[in-house]
Amino acid sequence: MGDAHTTIAELREMVRTFAAERRWEPFHSPKNIAMALAVEAAELMEPMMWIEADASRAIAHDPERRHHLGEEIADVFNLLLNLCNSLNIDLSDAFRAKIVKNAVKYPPPAGA
Ligand SMILES: [Mg+2]
Repeated sequence: MGDAHTTIAELREMVRTFAAERRWEPFHSPKNIAMALAVEAAELMEPMMWIEADASRAIAHDPERRHHLGEEIADVFNLLLNLCNSLNIDLSDAFRAKIVKNAVKYPPPAGA
């Protein structure tokens, strides 16, 4: 397994199944999921609050803190996929469209 061998569709189905098995769908309105996503994003930021940029980069070489951030990233991604399921948004299509829009908005510097 791993990113190279996992599709977004597989992960979305895992999120859908997890919620369905626990009968959580009634609580998963887009509003509630978006709010939970913001909370999880804050949990991701908390370990890096008040430290310098280089110290945040050093987390990549600290197995325990890196593991913790991986868990928080997974929480954020879980809710992002849940939100896509709830709103019937194709994440890959939305992502590609936004990258194209960003490329127009932020062209590479001349000579790059
Ligand atoms: Mg969390």
